[in-house]
Amino acid sequence: MSKFKIEIQITLLSVFIGVVVVASGYFAYQSLSEIVTLIHREAVPNNRLFIIKNLAADLATLENNARLYILTDESEDLQPYNETRQKINSTLETLQNLPTESMEETLFSDSVCSLANSKTQLWQQILILHQSAKGIDPGFTEIYSKLDEVKLDTIKTETPKKGFFRKIFGTKKVDVDTTIVERTPDKEEILQEIQTLENEIKLKGDEINTLESQLIEKNLVLVQKINKLIAEADQKENNKLLSKTGEADRLAEITYQRLKAFSIAAVLLLLLALFVLFNYQRKSRKYQLALKKAKLQAEDLAAAKEKFAANVTHELRTPVNAIFGLTEQLHQMSLDKNAKEMVSVLSKSATHLKSVVNDTLDFTKMQSGKLKLENTDFSPAEVFNEIVTIQKPEAQKRNNNLVFEWLGEKPEALLGDPMRLKQILINLIGNAIKFTQNGEIKLEVSCKTVINRYHFYIAVSDSGVGISKENLKIIFDEYVQAENTKGVKNEGTGLGLSIVKKLVDLHKGKIQIESEPGKGTTIKVEIAYPPGNPENISKTKPEKTEVPEYLKQLTYLIADDTDYNRFTIKGLLKNWGARYLEATNGKEAVDLAIQNSPDIVLMDLRMPEKNGIEAAMEILNKKPGTTIIAVSASGEEKDLKTSLNAGMAGFLLKPFSENELIETLISKKKEILLPPKNQKLKINPEEMKRLANGDEAFFKEMIQLFITSGEKGLQTIEEALQNKNTGTIRETAHKLAAPCKHLQAENLYQNIKSLEKLALEKSEPKKLEPVFRLVKSELEEIIVLLKNYLGEMPNK
Ligand code: ADP
Repeated sequence: MSKFKIEIQITLLSVFIGVVVVASGYFAYQSLSEIVTLIHREAVPNNRLFIIKNLAADLATLENNARLYILTDESEDLQPYNETRQKINSTLETLQNLPTESMEETLFSDSVCSLANSKTQLWQQILILHQSAKGIDPGFTEIYSKLDEVKLDTIKTETPKKGFFRKIFGTKKVDVDTTIVERTPDKEEILQEIQTLENEIKLKGDEINTLESQLIEKNLVLVQKINKLIAEADQKENNKLLSKTGEADRLAEITYQRLKAFSIAAVLLLLLALFVLFNYQRKSRKYQLALKKAKLQAEDLAAAKEKFAANVTHELRTPVNAIFGLTEQLHQMSLDKNAKEMVSVLSKSATHLKSVVNDTLDFTKMQSGKLKLENTDFSPAEVFNEIVTIQKPEAQKRNNNLVFEWLGEKPEALLGDPMRLKQILINLIGNAIKFTQNGEIKLEVSCKTVINRYHFYIAVSDSGVGISKENLKIIFDEYVQAENTKGVKNEGTGLGLSIVKKLVDLHKGKIQIESEPGKGTTIKVEIAYPPGNPENISKTKPEKTEVPEYLKQLTYLIADDTDYNRFTIKGLLKNWGARYLEATNGKEAVDLAIQNSPDIVLMDLRMPEKNGIEAAMEILNKKPGTTIIAVSASGEEKDLKTSLNAGMAGFLLKPFSENELIETLISKKKEILLPPKNQKLKINPEEMKRLANGDEAFFKEMIQLFITSGEKGLQTIEEALQNKNTGTIRETAHKLAAPCKHLQAENLYQNIKSLEKLALEKSEPKKLEPVFRLVKSELEEIIVLLKNYLGEMPNK
């Protein structure tokens, strides 16, 4: 949980910040949209008020038009008045049809309409009044003119009808009173009448003027009323606007407050998030530093451990080498029964000790990734049979039956590391034996080809104590030993299975374990190998390597500062009847080698005064061609490489067996040994004879063929050496090897094989040449022998 603490904290904070941001954003948006709506609404002008204001302006225009007309009395000036009036009528109609939202609005509209109507009517009356006043004047003038010019029969007077309203709303037509006048009227009378009429007219004119003034006053009142109404409406509109602005202000204030709160909250949360992050970073930096330090310490520790393990194994190997070697020698002595038993215990312990040391060293190498698999041709049948043969007596000791079964394909040769396969099998079968009593141990092998590779399915099963479920999970871990039923740890290091697992992994294979407590265990391993070359496998490998005669006749220099190491090797060489010299440090080794020219130097690498490498280089410098074999308890690859680079011919890992020493001396290493002095050349043509099936002529032919092909082969190799053509050398050596085997010329065969191997490895001519010289001298000697042999043969 604590692993995710920081992630949870950050996630929660982010979610919280997110919620706050979204909520604040939402509220701010809401407030802003309210403000926008308000502004929108206010942006729409009050249409009614606008129309009314226009109406008021039109009414003013109407008044002006009317006044103009009254002033000018021009009929064309009546036109604008009429147009304005029409416009006012249509505006009034629009205003009345305008939908209202409140009673107040309706009242306002109605009042304005009624006032406007009153005003238009008022001006209409004024105009009529004006026109009526204009109409009296011409009639009156007419009477005057008639009176002056002719004797009138009749006097027509136009008199306005009685009643004020008739005068205002009546048509222009004026009632004409006709007075019959005597053709000779009394002028005075007429004049009197006219005077009366004039007075009457004047009276009427005054009356009209009064009326007009009254109407104009009324107009003023109307204008005032309209203006007042408009002013009131304006005021209301302004008030409304003010209240809306106040509301928008209030909303803006709320929005501002919200945004402020949001910003503060967001900043605080961000600060918190930053704090958490920085804190985490600071801590993680601290952890990283601690981790780095711990890693460095661990690496130092691992290096120290590796060095320590290498030193310890070196220290262990030396005495183990002595015990092992001496026990082997003791075994070969004739001892009484008691001593034999003791030696047998000693041998068993030495073998166990050797395997523990080897396990530990292997494990250390594997852990540091230094263990490499070899790639040699080997026979799987030989490996399985050897293991079963070795383990059978062990199984029998615990009254177990060891069964071996092989199904499927049986390839003759594989390319791989037989030693490591053996190690896997020994560990698995060894464990099966160790944890089974009076039961059965089965090694089941099946093989099939999958895309050019032989897949081996190996199962080692036993009917022993089994392993509990919990232990099964950790069984491949290093140093793990499951306790037995009595709670007692078993004998061993607890490294066996983890070495097996690592070896299987190194082979890119698979391993699987099944077990049931009390019933037994099965471990299955799958490993694939490419096919090998059967010709490269020496089939006549004896169980115990015979010491070749020539090895017995060589002179050895044993250079080792440890007494019992020298003692062990000395014991072996004594048995062979070989001569030997001893050096206890590097300097002594160089001196003795120069003075005595030994054939073989067995050189320990860690020695006082001068180490093995320095000593070897000095010897090779002063006595080139000396065969020096490095002997070391270190399994380090770099030691092997340095030794070979220093010009040494081979490498022997302590503790080594007699067989290992012999094999190293005769074949395994980079240079061949010098020819033994005075060694009698051995050939046995009988095998060839057998091949010829008793046909002597054919046998002779075969020998003849051997001689010619031998001579030709030597010539070809010599030329190829000059041309540095290792391919031809390898091919020719390979062709020469088989006939040598048939003649049982074992030495020559081994040397030719070494030459072939060196050529295969594309070795330098300086390494190939000494071997070739040896092959040449041996082969030439054999050819001479064979020629003699042919000459001695009866001619049929
Ligand atoms: P070692 O044998 O040296 O103790 P291994 O790694 O080979 O170490 O084995 C580890 C442990 O696994 C053993 O101690 C044993 O408890 C258990 N074990 C291994 N193989 C078997 C088996 N065939 N039957 C029962 N237990 C086994």
